[in-house]
Amino acid sequence: MVDSSSFDYYIQLYYVVTFVSVTLLVSRVMYKAFCDNYESNRRLKKEIETNHLLNQRLKEANQRLEIIASIDELTKISNRRGLHIHMDNLESNLNDNQQKFSSIVMDIDYFKKYNDYYGHNPGDKVLENIAGVLSGIAKDTSGFVARWGGEEFVYIICGENMEQIGSVCKRVQEAVYNLKIPHPQSEVSNYVTLSMGACSSNVSNRKEMQKCIEQADKALYNVKTGGRNGYSYVSMIVE
Ligand code: GH3
Ligand code: MG
Ligand code: MG
Repeated sequence: MVDSSSFDYYIQLYYVVTFVSVTLLVSRVMYKAFCDNYESNRRLKKEIETNHLLNQRLKEANQRLEIIASIDELTKISNRRGLHIHMDNLESNLNDNQQKFSSIVMDIDYFKKYNDYYGHNPGDKVLENIAGVLSGIAKDTSGFVARWGGEEFVYIICGENMEQIGSVCKRVQEAVYNLKIPHPQSEVSNYVTLSMGACSSNVSNRKEMQKCIEQADKALYNVKTGGRNGYSYVSMIVE
């Protein structure tokens, strides 16, 4: 027979053993959950860091791609897309305030004849050399130059008046002449020359800048029909 005091003892022992076992089990489960949680947190943190790094690299790659896409492959100056990006930036700085804006559209004279006479590769070299000259002048005058397409270039600047833009045209004409690139087929000079049309205007948005470039293009057409190797400028009144 088990007496009542030893029965109590076994009961208490049973509780203690059960309590310790359950506590151990719960601690073990909690510890495991903690470890799993810790590990998945660590992995998540690592994944976030990797994603952040990847995003950063993707952003940089996109920026590089954007730059590459806005540079003309041959002449290494901005292309039409680069010009549009630049105009977007100018527009966002305008904040609807009017500012002076000038553009010069330039076109090499009798360039088809040059290519026909010397070949396409020497023609490419001419484009590179002229782009180099224009890029130097743009840097000097805080303007912006882009290859508009083919043998055409566009120069734009903010804040300059008609006289200043006229002097940029003169400078371009002299600098291109001083390259002294022989052009026996030209009907206006012994050397490669440019025709330019310029326009100055007060603009308050991108559309008016575009309009100013169109007016410069019309002025260029007049120079072409008037004999080439020169420049003409107009003032655009914004209604
Ligand atoms: P104009 O004085 O009226 O401007 O006559 P042009 O011959 O310069 O003009 P036209 O539009 O008849 O011909 C443009 C020429 O430009 C045609 C093409 O051979 C040449 N051209 C356009 N893009 C390139 C290029 O990337 N490389 C070379 N080498 N030539 C080009
Ligand atoms: Mg042309
Ligand atoms: Mg031409």
